[in-house]
Amino acid sequence: MQNVKNTIVDRLLAVVAPHLCSGCGRIGSTFCDNCKYDITQEPFLGCILCEKPTINGVCDDHKAVFNQAWVVGIRSGALQRLIGGFKFRNMKAASVELADLLHKRLPPFPSGVVFVPIPTTPLHIRERGYDHMLLIANQLGRLRHFPVQKLLIRENHLIQHRASREQRLIQATTAFRVEGVVDPRAIYILLDDVVTTGATIVQAATLLRQAGATIVWVAATSRQPLD
Ligand SMILES: [Zn+2]
Ligand SMILES: [Zn+2]
Repeated sequence: MQNVKNTIVDRLLAVVAPHLCSGCGRIGSTFCDNCKYDITQEPFLGCILCEKPTINGVCDDHKAVFNQAWVVGIRSGALQRLIGGFKFRNMKAASVELADLLHKRLPPFPSGVVFVPIPTTPLHIRERGYDHMLLIANQLGRLRHFPVQKLLIRENHLIQHRASREQRLIQATTAFRVEGVVDPRAIYILLDDVVTTGATIVQAATLLRQAGATIVWVAATSRQPLD
């Protein structure tokens, strides 16, 4: 009976406050199947750091800190609108959609995987009330049945999306510290949202390696080339 009541309430809410797809504006869900299909049909296949075509997501020149990477797509179109809405408005539901896109993009993983979110800046957590990468990581962990470990802690409060390339590189060298136990047998998969220079993920992967991690991979929701 409770379930029937909940279903009725959900339906009423859907009529009163219908979800709009943040990709195409269609009524029905926060991000519709058509938009997801379009994005997953054209995954980003270049090196996550330099865009050179490669099969492992990272080219031979950039394999030093992590040897595999996956990116859902280039930051444009529907994916750009989903991420934009997620980062700058209060759209918690978008974490479910971004986790689902990562789930569709990523291959099956062997056992021993641990997801490590790149932490959102404390300022943005205060503005939005939540850490969006942690939400995505937790949802992806549920979908893939792998644990999430908050191994990386932010050291500063700088806002990256307003920084120049040079500032980003400087910020990234002081952005994190590792807190917690690193298991040398685990496969750590760093989760990030928008990768630009890649300085953040290189720094995060380097720190994990220095703390004892032997395998570090990277998965990101999008790549945005710097202009
Ligand atoms: Zn749509
Ligand atoms: Zn490269």
